[in-house]
Amino acid sequence: MRGVLKGCVLGVLLAGMASAALAQSAGPAAAAAPAHEAPAVRTPRPPPPSPPRVIQQVKDNIYRAGNGNWWSLFAVTKAGIILVDPISVDFAKWLKAQLDQRYPGLPVRYVIYSHSHWDHVEGGAAFKDTALFVAQDGFRKNMDGRYPHMPGDMIDRNANGTIELEEIQIPSQEHPGICGMPDFWFAHQDRNHDGHITSAEYFADIPPPDITYSDRMTLTLGGMTVQLIFPGKNHADDGTVVFFPAERVVFSTDFPADALVTTSMRSLPSACGAFDEHPMSEWIKSYRTIEALDFDILAQGHGSVLFKKSDVTEGREYFEYLRDQVSAGMAAGKSLDELRRTLMLEKYKDWANYDRLRVMNIEAAYHNLSIYK
Ligand SMILES: [Zn+2]
Ligand SMILES: [Zn+2]
Repeated sequence: MRGVLKGCVLGVLLAGMASAALAQSAGPAAAAAPAHEAPAVRTPRPPPPSPPRVIQQVKDNIYRAGNGNWWSLFAVTKAGIILVDPISVDFAKWLKAQLDQRYPGLPVRYVIYSHSHWDHVEGGAAFKDTALFVAQDGFRKNMDGRYPHMPGDMIDRNANGTIELEEIQIPSQEHPGICGMPDFWFAHQDRNHDGHITSAEYFADIPPPDITYSDRMTLTLGGMTVQLIFPGKNHADDGTVVFFPAERVVFSTDFPADALVTTSMRSLPSACGAFDEHPMSEWIKSYRTIEALDFDILAQGHGSVLFKKSDVTEGREYFEYLRDQVSAGMAAGKSLDELRRTLMLEKYKDWANYDRLRVMNIEAAYHNLSIYK
């Protein structure tokens, strides 16, 4: 079942984010170069620019903080701050300084993890002194030493329990810029440079959750109520949708908006690994779980704008349409190749990434519906 799985379009998008950290690690090596080397070899490269970082109000005391196309969320109460997703070591340090400056004496009391993929949840150590970390049960399972669920069709192809370079290269080569990760990410995560990323290395910058829940959980702090909801398996297998009922605000990451979404949810999903190794029925259930919440504003871990409930509905309708079209073709005995050529998904030709992802979506649906009948 290789070739069946997930999508985050991480490679291209992470390039800017990871480059700063990698430049730092390259520093000591450059300084240690032998004295007889030509000066040109030792000339330090200029540091890559940091992604733009901003803080924007979502509603009332709820804000989102952006690191390029990655977004976290925080809510300010009189008893402390609730943060969702520290994103990265550098960003979390920056955000901590921002919060200390804006709200002196008001510590972060909770860090909620949206899901366990490293690119949204590293850096929590910046808040460890004052905060409890909260996640869905699956988060703990993903941290238990076994190969974790990963985005971008990065699966344990050789079944040895650790991540090897080719396991991130194969999906990158099959779907450049959409699945897998670039080599520099591997070099960064393989912290002892032995050619394997172990679970401990992968989660090295991610404090484990102190509290987990299975289906739903309510947190209250300083008069604010927050509901944590597991919508089902979709992009991740341990996702948390964060719902502020009084403010009618919802936050989630990588679902429904994946990393390709910028200004509109009308964007074909990236579909790596036949939809991240999770049945399309689970995806549709996940959409419906969010649609059932009583909210006005949906803030996402990706996307420069805020969304609304109708955006979620459109995404679910696309998924159902894709499922129905591919399913009908399969029932009529059509081959995958025939479906690739004839299923044009006309209704969605104006959506972002239609040309790039139409065939990939059909393939993912075909494999998904073959596996999860
Ligand atoms: Zn993710
Ligand atoms: Zn993401």
